[in-house]
Amino acid sequence: MSGDLNASAVPHENVHIWQGRVFGDTFFKKYLTWQVGGSVAGAAYAAYSGDNVADSMDAAGYTNNPFETQAFLSNSDPYNSYDSDSSLQWWRK
Ligand SMILES: [Zn+2]
Repeated sequence: MSGDLNASAVPHENVHIWQGRVFGDTFFKKYLTWQVGGSVAGAAYAAYSGDNVADSMDAAGYTNNPFETQAFLSNSDPYNSYDSDSSLQWWRK
């Protein structure tokens, strides 16, 4: 098992740990609310725009989640190579 992927993901996950410390018990509820709401909004946008539904739901619900955005920007972690064709993935375009 290579340790490179796990080691490079540590800074990203450390951001989530600190987010959990800052927001306490509400962190997961806030994260999940954005995830579900963003996914619904992404699906609605895809229906309107013709964009790929899965990409739009993923962009709006996951990669544009502010908690994820902060973690993605924390370092050059492997998630930064993540790319989506959705025009909703605004922060990396
Ligand atoms: Zn994350």
